[in-house]
Amino acid sequence: MQVLSVRQPLAWAIARGHAAVENRGWATSHRGVLAIHASMRVDLESVASPLVRAAHWDPDDPVAAIGGIVAVVRLSGVCAAAVSGQECDCGAWARPAAYHWQLAAPQPLPRPVAEPGGPGLWELSPALADEVTRMLATAAVPPQPDQGPDATRQALSA
Ligand SMILES: [Zn+2]
Repeated sequence: MQVLSVRQPLAWAIARGHAAVENRGWATSHRGVLAIHASMRVDLESVASPLVRAAHWDPDDPVAAIGGIVAVVRLSGVCAAAVSGQECDCGAWARPAAYHWQLAAPQPLPRPVAEPGGPGLWELSPALADEVTRMLATAAVPPQPDQGPDATRQALSA
């Protein structure tokens, strides 16, 4: 499982689905599962940003912790338009002159998995990757009623 370290409060904003973009000075060819690690260092400037305040930043939220994996997302693409000064549709969280890592389907962890982190994109140890996967399975949302009577019957008889 690949991991990206992000400073708070942006790790929180990604985990809670407010920010669907992570701004980086570099691109990656990695696509798919990406764990979000909250670094030890907090970005104090971003705490005061209108975007973070409008998202109702909550420092008591478990995914607002530092020094641990707080969420798993899907990296669906990297937009390079802003690097060459072009416009794009990446939204309010996207910054000029940065690669926009497009993050989909955020799954916040019920509690952070402690890990000191590392620079760039790095590989989570198999033991911690198992722990993250187990947590997500436990926290999975049960089937919704709108999935039809067959899904409900299957859920009841399972
Ligand atoms: Zn973009």
